[in-house]
Amino acid sequence: MKYINEKESFQEYMERFRQNFLESDTYVIWGAGEKSKKIRERLPDNILFVVDNDKKKQGMAIDGLIVKSPDALKELKENNIKVIVAVHAYMDIFRKLDEYGILEERYCNYREWLLIGDYFLKGCISVPEVSFIVNNRCTLSCKGCIEYIPYTENKRDFPFKEIKESFDYFFQYADYANDVVVVGGETLLYKDLAAVLKYVYEHYAVTGHVRNISIMTNGTVMPDENVLQALKLYDIVVRISDYKNAVGNKNIVDKLLTIFSQRKIKYQIENHFSRVEEGKWFDMGNPLKCRNMTEKGLREHFDKCAVACWAVWDSKLFNCNGVRSNIANLGAEGEPDNDWCDLRTDSKEKFIKYYLGYNNKGYYKFCNYCNGYGEYINKTSLLPGEQMQNDERG
Ligand code: SF4
Ligand code: SF4
Repeated sequence: MKYINEKESFQEYMERFRQNFLESDTYVIWGAGEKSKKIRERLPDNILFVVDNDKKKQGMAIDGLIVKSPDALKELKENNIKVIVAVHAYMDIFRKLDEYGILEERYCNYREWLLIGDYFLKGCISVPEVSFIVNNRCTLSCKGCIEYIPYTENKRDFPFKEIKESFDYFFQYADYANDVVVVGGETLLYKDLAAVLKYVYEHYAVTGHVRNISIMTNGTVMPDENVLQALKLYDIVVRISDYKNAVGNKNIVDKLLTIFSQRKIKYQIENHFSRVEEGKWFDMGNPLKCRNMTEKGLREHFDKCAVACWAVWDSKLFNCNGVRSNIANLGAEGEPDNDWCDLRTDSKEKFIKYYLGYNNKGYYKFCNYCNGYGEYINKTSLLPGEQMQNDERG
């Protein structure tokens, strides 16, 4: 389903998407959660009903729309009704829609609908989320780390000047970002963190280009006074991963919650977003071990992968953090024509294409070193925060 078509430019693809998905009169939304809210707001009169796997939501009404079981889609015969899938792991849902006999030209994912929709209908580029990477130093060494910290030799803080440039180049393309996340490594180890937060707040939040700013932390580092003041002053949310079951007394989450409550700093405990099932991470595998897949195999592998983690590093936009970590942290060269959008030189169409997870070859070189993300492709799991021992690197 990932776009790869040598006979059609991405501009032509977007035009076909516009005719197919933006000019429809009637839609069904898959997903009754937050992700579908924006779609519901945009299409107040055009949604037939909503479906959701969660049995507790079925039968309820949201925004005046009835929530049904996905089985209701089996009855959906009319070709003009389009399905917008508004869940994170949308590739898994696409497979279900295939099973229901719904043709590919009748369903799309919500990000694509919103982003291409804004581009055509409002003439702007508006992204839901993007992360800016500030370092690759960390206090932990997690087996399932998508930054590949346990395999990283050259651990460092990325220069503040480069990070400012990354913001500036990014917002030459994107008019709006709903959520900007500042992340590492362990973000709180970054020496210029307060200055980065001030920069993004003053240059992009105050001006209305960014709605929410947050930072991630692994719950093992106490922020210094400068950072505490910046978090409060710039209304930043601290997203805390709580790995207490895996890292023992390195974990200081309780102390962090106390100080954030006292200082009225916003925080949230992260649900572990890479989970296979409640409380588990996908095991992405050893990044140094090649799977020796053929070109065809790589395209199929990529096609099944549900990854979508937008990261900016060195003024380059990546759609897969594994690909970025392989280059930034493990020193791989990467493929400039295929692995990223260069924010210094590439076109707006390429920016949209890469943000949406498409590329030129139908896979990234690093897919050959990765188990993939999502239940459809990856059945292996790890305990969140499980630590790597020295002799396990392979
Ligand atoms: S806390 Fe673990 S997963 Fe997060 S960056 Fe550090 S090593 Fe990686
Ligand atoms: S298979 Fe791995 S490297 Fe390839 S896109 Fe998915 S997560 Fe990224």
